[in-house]
Amino acid sequence: MTTDRIIDAADRLATLRDSIDRAARLTDRTADAVHLIAVSKTHDADAIRPLLHAGQRVFGENRVQEAQEKWPALREEFSGVDLHLVGQLQSNKAADAVALFDVIHSLDRPSLLTALARAMDAAGKRVPCFIQVNIGSEEQKGGCPITDTPALIAAARDADIPILGLMCVPPADIEAAPFFALLAKMAREEGLPRLSMGMSGDYETAIMLGATDIRVGTALFGQRPSPARPVPASGRGMVRNSSH
Ligand SMILES: *Cc1c(COP(=O)(O)O)cnc(C)c1O
Repeated sequence: MTTDRIIDAADRLATLRDSIDRAARLTDRTADAVHLIAVSKTHDADAIRPLLHAGQRVFGENRVQEAQEKWPALREEFSGVDLHLVGQLQSNKAADAVALFDVIHSLDRPSLLTALARAMDAAGKRVPCFIQVNIGSEEQKGGCPITDTPALIAAARDADIPILGLMCVPPADIEAAPFFALLAKMAREEGLPRLSMGMSGDYETAIMLGATDIRVGTALFGQRPSPARPVPASGRGMVRNSSH
C-alpha cells in the first residue's frame, strides 16, 4: 500500500464529496443527508484498500459470490464496513446474501421476498432492503413492474422485512431525471423515506431529485476492467480518472 494510492483515493473522495455537497445544497440538504455507496464490483482488494484507508466505509457489490471472496478478509483488516448488495439476487443465494450484506437494494419480486424472509428468520436477523423498481418498464431489466410495486411493499411489511425505500437503475443513454422524479413520487406515496438512485454519470441529478443513497463506482475507482452487469449508462460521467 503506497501513500500515493491513498492520497489519490482521498482526492477522488474529496472531489466527489464536494459535488455531492453542492447538489445537496440545491435541495436545502447537506452532504450528510446523502449516503455514498462506493461500488467496488470487479475491483480487487488491492484497489479497494486505498479507499478504506482514506476513510470510506460503505461499499456496494453486485454479485454475492464475488463479495464473499473479497469482503470477509477486508472486514478483518478494517472495522465498521457497511456492505450493500446493489445487483440482482437469485433466490437460491438469499441466505448467503443475508449472512454477508447489511443492506439489500434489489428486492424486486414475491419469490425473492419469500426466500429473503425465510433466510432472515433462519439467521435471526433482519436485513433492511430497498425495493428495486423497473422504472423504465424495460423488458430484460431487473426491478419490480411499477404497477406491482405497492403490493410488493405491502407483502414485505407483512413478512416483517424492513423496507428503507425504493431503488432504480434508469434506462441507459436517455435523460434520467424523469425516471428519478417518478421514483421519488412513488416513494412519497408509500411513505418511504429513502431513494437509492444515481451512479457516476448522473448522481448530481439524482441528488437534486431527492436521492438519499447514491451508488458510485467509476468516479471513485476508474473504469472497470471488463463490462459488469448492468452495463452502466454512465461511462460518459468518468472525468476523474487521473486526478493526481
Ligand atoms: C455498477 C453499478 C453502479 C455503479 O456504476 P458507475 O457508473 O460505475 O458509478 C451503480 N448501481 C448498480 C446497480 C451497479 O450495478
